Amino acid sequence: MNNFEEYCTQFVQSVGNKEGAVSPAITSSASFAYGDPETAEGIFNASVKKPLYSRMGNPTTAKLESVMAQMDGGIGAVATSSGMGAITLATMSLLSSGDEIISVGGLFGGTYSLFNETLTRFGITTHFLDVDDLDGIKTKINENTKIIFCESVGNPNMKLPEIKKIADIANSAGVVLIVDNTITPMSIKPLELGADIAVYSTTKIISGNSSALGGCAVFRAINDGDDKFKTARYKDLHKFIDKMGKMALIPNAKKRALRDFGMSASAHASYQTLLGLETLALRMDRVVKSVEIVASALDTAGLKINHPSLKSSDQNAKYKELFKNGCGTLLTIDMCTKEKAYEFLNKTKLATLTANIGDSRTLALHMASTIYSDFNQEQREFLGITDGLIRISIGLENPQDIIDDFIKAAL
Ligand code: PLP
Repeated sequence: MNNFEEYCTQFVQSVGNKEGAVSPAITSSASFAYGDPETAEGIFNASVKKPLYSRMGNPTTAKLESVMAQMDGGIGAVATSSGMGAITLATMSLLSSGDEIISVGGLFGGTYSLFNETLTRFGITTHFLDVDDLDGIKTKINENTKIIFCESVGNPNMKLPEIKKIADIANSAGVVLIVDNTITPMSIKPLELGADIAVYSTTKIISGNSSALGGCAVFRAINDGDDKFKTARYKDLHKFIDKMGKMALIPNAKKRALRDFGMSASAHASYQTLLGLETLALRMDRVVKSVEIVASALDTAGLKINHPSLKSSDQNAKYKELFKNGCGTLLTIDMCTKEKAYEFLNKTKLATLTANIGDSRTLALHMASTIYSDFNQEQREFLGITDGLIRISIGLENPQDIIDDFIKAAL
């Protein structure tokens, strides 16, 4: 049984209700009436479990959070307005001025910009390391290091991190590991591999059809005995551990990020995302097979394809050993020049040109002129952005139709 089979049962059983309306209810209210002041006080001090205000949580969003936490074996989750919201929530709930992040491997442009530009304005430094530079991680860790961060698959450089080895380093040094698992939900299980937090842009394959912007951070439980969160490195968390025990990372994220920054999910987006979750396992199963078929056929046709399933990829050995359920929907085509890339994009009839990934339909985008247009040459080189690079996100179409269209477009 591959990873996806178990989720086919889990998702449909947990999203729908067994009584009353089968489809999850959309609670489209910003605020909630408390009835009496005693209840209001209880809600605010967390002794009464009722909704407080939609910035801090909403019943539809809570349902989504419980399914997401179950998917990753977390103690809980916090859904957000976008994937960037989830990354900001997970990082900013742990960071203070003077802290450091170690970012390993390929990185989505928005996250790179958050770490490299925005967080530096708040006194937070990020060290960017190559995906295989495990010794570099050990060397860079010091008493200010709060977070090690990696993407399960570098977007768009297709580099694959050895998450278990990175987690072992993080755990022996007592540092938190956050994995952006947007591209490989279910295929990779970050918390099982030793990470502390998994973050997602649910905008991508989880909702899966461009209907909802959203994000989610899934947190592990604090251990009853020793736990790195109980050390001086994470002293700001201790009051939450004293009050909430193993759940502490959830109120910490809600109080230190959601309440103050307000990157809260909307009930409508949470509902659309729940609908996406029902079919996520089926879609992933199909698309990870399609992407290999398409990558192989285009490679054989002589196009410059980057996908870890190809023997030509320097990531192939890691792919075969560590990514047995595939590595998501992406591949890249390097057309060598911007002109050739534009020609391809103007000729393809099948691909939709957009900045999204993980959609039901195949998507394509020239990287250097769009997401990375304000990155300098050195940053582009580090992130693997060449002049002719096109990122493709394979959809649910018949793979042969995609191959035929792409070969015609490349001629
Ligand atoms: N993480 C990854 C790997 C992404 O590809 C993206 C968006 O492309 C994000 C995070 C940000 O997600 P959102 O657009 O939902 O903010």
